[in-house]
Amino acid sequence: MKVRLFEIFTSVEGEGILYGTKTLFVRLAGCPFTCFYCDTKESLPLDSGTEYNLDEACNLIDSNLIKQTYKVNFTGGDPLLQYQAVAELAKHVQSKKIPTYLESSCFDSKKFDHVLPFIDIVKIEFKTKDSEFVDSEHYEKLITNAIECLKSSVSTKKITYIKIVVSSKTNLNDFTNLVTTIFNSISKNQINGFVIQPTYGIAEPSLDLLLEMYDTVYPFYNEVKVVPQLHKFMGAP
Ligand code: SF4
Repeated sequence: MKVRLFEIFTSVEGEGILYGTKTLFVRLAGCPFTCFYCDTKESLPLDSGTEYNLDEACNLIDSNLIKQTYKVNFTGGDPLLQYQAVAELAKHVQSKKIPTYLESSCFDSKKFDHVLPFIDIVKIEFKTKDSEFVDSEHYEKLITNAIECLKSSVSTKKITYIKIVVSSKTNLNDFTNLVTTIFNSISKNQINGFVIQPTYGIAEPSLDLLLEMYDTVYPFYNEVKVVPQLHKFMGAP
């Protein structure tokens, strides 16, 4: 089995509920989507990065894994494109007793379910309609898949949190409908966090809009947080 990795590096986690933790990032190459705010555009082509066989990739992870690393984050691109390889790499990391973490747009619940047994911490990202991730014709299918991924993750008792990136283009009604759909599918006790992440440097949402979004989630989940990408303020990758 082969895998294409775009890059591998240690940094401080800048997103989500585990921001601030020392993390080894394994960035998989490839993502077929088109979010207008994507900040890893260089890694989107499937032929970006370098191809390794599985043993080489495991050795690369081992040689980059420095002491007191809190977790290994499989990110992208979208790691689910290379889901079989990600499952093997995550299994390898788990054998070293280091928590594994998956960041994905959850576009395919079958691929997600293949990887899930080897992942300890899951970020389920829900895309808003305005993200330009997919066209409107395919949007409902995307949300259906993300909901299935969310249900799988909480039913297998993974540490699970939800992230939604929002911008000045995000329509509050669409956001409200998305949040309602999420909490019609799971209960608040099943998740470990809900993060509203404002875009940075492009179509940034106003504070008023962020507070309205916060107020939308709060009745469902009162530990909702607005968290920007903190690594960008530090100039970290
Ligand atoms: S899903 Fe992620 S990697 Fe793919 S285009 Fe959107 S932001 Fe970029």
